[in-house]
Amino acid sequence: MEPRGTRRRAEKPEVAEPPNKLPHAAPSLPTKPALYSGPFPFYRRPLELGCFSLDAQRQYHGDARALRYYSPPPTNGPGPNFDLRDGYPDRYHPRDEDIREGLDHLLRWLLEHRGQLEGGPGWLAGAIVTWRGHLTKLLTTPYERQEGWQMAASRFQGTLYLSEVETPAARAQRLTQPPLLRELKYMGYKFEQYMCTDKPGGSPDPSGEVNTNVAFCSVLRSRLGSHPLLFSGEVDCTDPQAPSTQPPTCYVELKTSKEMHSPGQWRGFYRHKLLKWWAQSFLPGVPNVVAGFRNPEGFVCSLKTFPTMEMFEHVRNDRDGWNPSVCMNFCAAFLSFAQSTVVQDDPRLVHLFSWEPGGPVTVSVHRDAPYAFLPTWYVEAMTPDLPSPLKD
Ligand code: GDP
Ligand code: MG
Repeated sequence: MEPRGTRRRAEKPEVAEPPNKLPHAAPSLPTKPALYSGPFPFYRRPLELGCFSLDAQRQYHGDARALRYYSPPPTNGPGPNFDLRDGYPDRYHPRDEDIREGLDHLLRWLLEHRGQLEGGPGWLAGAIVTWRGHLTKLLTTPYERQEGWQMAASRFQGTLYLSEVETPAARAQRLTQPPLLRELKYMGYKFEQYMCTDKPGGSPDPSGEVNTNVAFCSVLRSRLGSHPLLFSGEVDCTDPQAPSTQPPTCYVELKTSKEMHSPGQWRGFYRHKLLKWWAQSFLPGVPNVVAGFRNPEGFVCSLKTFPTMEMFEHVRNDRDGWNPSVCMNFCAAFLSFAQSTVVQDDPRLVHLFSWEPGGPVTVSVHRDAPYAFLPTWYVEAMTPDLPSPLKD
């Protein structure tokens, strides 16, 4: 489902070029919410195709070894009292964010499973491959007022690959990250440690290190409108007690947020944070987000479960709220825009889609470094050998 008046911008003008050769405007995609209200588009129930794990050294394993188990404190007990600052900074091993991984881990999974994909051998050629986190950014774009983004796109053997590029502003922010922000990030991961176990049945052990190299990633198939999707997202844990043990419906997303004390604080939370939580969990079909609310001393003393499908109710009657239809219609329009812009099939060619709040999505074209992101090992493994003329 596409909102009217957006698709044509991506198409070639139907009239011949004027004789005075006035350059026609470069194609761009507007992002104002009003352009994307309309019925909720088709979104296929996400299906888990497989998974992989990254270990403490960020090494890939084609299994679920990094999957953890949801293990909240007993409801009849005293309630949580999690010190999220415990272990900081001594037991913090943050991932090296200077290493830009692009789509590499997902591409490794895809390479090893391309023969077993459902939907027939042609399915992948018509699909879009990306990280869940990139799709989340697209969904929230019509409402985002702070941070822009850049997405690199390459077409290879029909498939459109989307890989985010860190903007200069995001890079500058990361390199000058205030110590308090670094600690807040740690606290988010520490919360997971209080709420999860490595084996089903046990109780959490918060004495160990927080190593953010470790990740469990689910690989999912879905479709938005006419766009088949294959994407992967990091999953915090699985609930062994969930009504359905079938992924992704057994998965739980864990979040922390500031304790709130006034209706105004809750309103702001529903308008801004819940939008991001909804977008991230709706895409892979994760049904519940469990929030830990931290006090100014960094302790979580209360938990609340937000069912993903009920989040919109908190802003449905809010004039300054968000609308899931707008998010999904914009994402569908962006995917159509990207599909019609990236015509040439060439893994070394990159169309860079750039967006800053308040403006439209614009496009620039690049070849090879620094923007090309499909690794040689992937391109070569996917390319059938030519018969060698030297062989007899
Ligand atoms: P998210 O939805 O933003 O958490 O991202 P995804 O679930 O799509 O994760 C995609 C890949 O990016 C995985 O390999 C994650 O381990 C990694 N990742 C997730 N969050 C971050 C982050 O904040 N910074 C960096 N550099 N990588 C991340
Ligand atoms: Mg989380």
